[in-house]
Amino acid sequence: MSNKPVTVVAIDGPAASGKSTVARQTAQALGWVYVDSGALYRGLTWKALRENVDTTRPADVIALLARIKWDFFDDQHSIRFTLDGEDPGQQLRSEIVSKAASDIAVVPEVRTFIVGELRKMTEFGSLVMEGRDIGSVVFPDTPFKFYLDANPAERARRRAAELARPENEGRGDVAQVLSLLTQRDQKDSGRKTAPLQIPLGARVIDSTQLGIADVVALVLGELRQAGAAP
Ligand code: C5P
Repeated sequence: MSNKPVTVVAIDGPAASGKSTVARQTAQALGWVYVDSGALYRGLTWKALRENVDTTRPADVIALLARIKWDFFDDQHSIRFTLDGEDPGQQLRSEIVSKAASDIAVVPEVRTFIVGELRKMTEFGSLVMEGRDIGSVVFPDTPFKFYLDANPAERARRRAAELARPENEGRGDVAQVLSLLTQRDQKDSGRKTAPLQIPLGARVIDSTQLGIADVVALVLGELRQAGAAP
């Protein structure tokens, strides 16, 4: 482990707010490491579904968490992991995993474990980490916190367009996507532990009318102004 000081950029926001693309591109522009914190919640969910663990039963999810082994690695400046040696790959993005992930995300023991793993990732270097509680819980002391939002109709439109791409089997229905997004937002904002919220001191960016490049430029501008980025 090196003692080099690291910087963390926290990018939070609701589903389909554009935070993944913004976080990934910001990390790329800086040569820093990108972390998708939702992937860890999804990873545990994927494992639970494979092992027929009921994701709505916290005791069963906690027992599963205790017996699995996670290995994290840096894959071209993006953190990936295996669970008991297996790479969940694109299966993390499936709708069934998306839905059940917000069930396991309410379990405090799950959150404590994942928050601990996310904090350890500074060992990989300076980070751009996206999620729901990065600026509020995982790295509350970082001076670089952003909260990305866009109105629900625009978020649903973007997610449906993404799902309609041939590699995603062309299933993009805006009304259905909007309903699933709204349900997930409600679960993520309404839970007791670490609900989705605007972190104290975060810069709120409404991307309804902005392109990805504009948002990345805002984030990079703030880092440069603070002397944290070249
Ligand atoms: O960001 P993503 O959609 O991949 O996250 C999947 C789910 O994981 C979210 O709906 C949320 O319930 C949970 N999550 C969380 N805290 C984070 C990241 C994700 O609770 N920091």
